[in-house]
Amino acid sequence: MSKASKAAECALCGAKSTQRCSRCREVFYCTEEHQYTHWRAHKNYCGPPSTISISAIFIPADEDSPREVTVKCTATHVGGSIFYNPDLESFLGTTDIGGQRISRMGYNGPKLTNPITCYIRDNFNNDGSPFNKCALKMTGGRTPLAWRGNVLAMKHSGLYPDKLLDVKLDKDLDAIVEYFKWYPNKPA
Ligand SMILES: [Zn+2]
Ligand SMILES: [Zn+2]
Repeated sequence: MSKASKAAECALCGAKSTQRCSRCREVFYCTEEHQYTHWRAHKNYCGPPSTISISAIFIPADEDSPREVTVKCTATHVGGSIFYNPDLESFLGTTDIGGQRISRMGYNGPKLTNPITCYIRDNFNNDGSPFNKCALKMTGGRTPLAWRGNVLAMKHSGLYPDKLLDVKLDKDLDAIVEYFKWYPNKPA
């Protein structure tokens, strides 16, 4: 079972519960026992959901601080595996999007347990995107790259099939700040 932010009624007994079926994320159970008992009925309609919500770190071009946002992700099936495609367009305002993968803390620091991808507009240098004020503030003005336009950072399992994971702003921001401080110049 997985934890949900909102409580709902246990599908078996109706008690308030924040634990839900981790496969479909649609039904709630007060206890594992009740999930087990209900499985005989639930298995007939339990399956991966067509959309999920994942939290990400939004680094807006025209604001001072990064913030946590919820990104709607839609399922696609590829070779027997299910992937969830995040709706990046809502945050970046275009479908021409590139991704920068962060896999270490700092240029040559320890490997991150889960890599983070910073999504940016593909042509942010030439499409009239404004300077990213937030990226500048986050790094105390120490960014070798003049980031333009919004940036959306999402966390991945890093395993195949890749899975998007919820970010924790207080835990995951450091790796992004460190990355912004050196990219794209290899530090001396
Ligand atoms: Zn129950
Ligand atoms: Zn289920």
